[in-house]
Amino acid sequence: MNLQQPIADMNTFLAYAITLEEEAAERYDELADALEIHNNPKVSRAFRTLAEFGRKHAEEIIALAAGLDLPNISPWEFEWDDPESPETTSMDAVHYLMNTAHALEIALANELRAHAFYHRISQDTRDAEIKRIAADFALEEKEHVALLKQWIDECPDSTEDWRFDPDPANLPE
Ligand code: ZN
Repeated sequence: MNLQQPIADMNTFLAYAITLEEEAAERYDELADALEIHNNPKVSRAFRTLAEFGRKHAEEIIALAAGLDLPNISPWEFEWDDPESPETTSMDAVHYLMNTAHALEIALANELRAHAFYHRISQDTRDAEIKRIAADFALEEKEHVALLKQWIDECPDSTEDWRFDPDPANLPE
């Protein structure tokens, strides 16, 4: 997700926003699945709610874009980063290693990224309408960031608990 040019037209902006929100919803569902396995139903449910927010938001943007001819944006432009690994991680590969703190860190890093994305567009664009909508979306992401920071503060296990396990077969059930 490295846009060199400020987004100049509404169609491109909305297409990016839809892809970002749909990707976020999918990742939250994956994190929720992972935490169900790790028996953290509280945070799992919280991630389901965030997935629902993302889907609803995507639907709203799709409605906003009704009748517009949106460009196609590749989902991988918004693939989530895992802050603990230098490359974008396949979520499947980390499922069995994930604890709550790690899941929260991944979510926080990507909410910060989503905020930065919208914020930068709101700063860079010369289109008043894009500026208004992007600022609005940035504000929403800021709320997600605050929510995740709060959950991290409340989370009892530290990220230190999460380490690569070379022998995952020995993990307790
Ligand atoms: Zn968000």
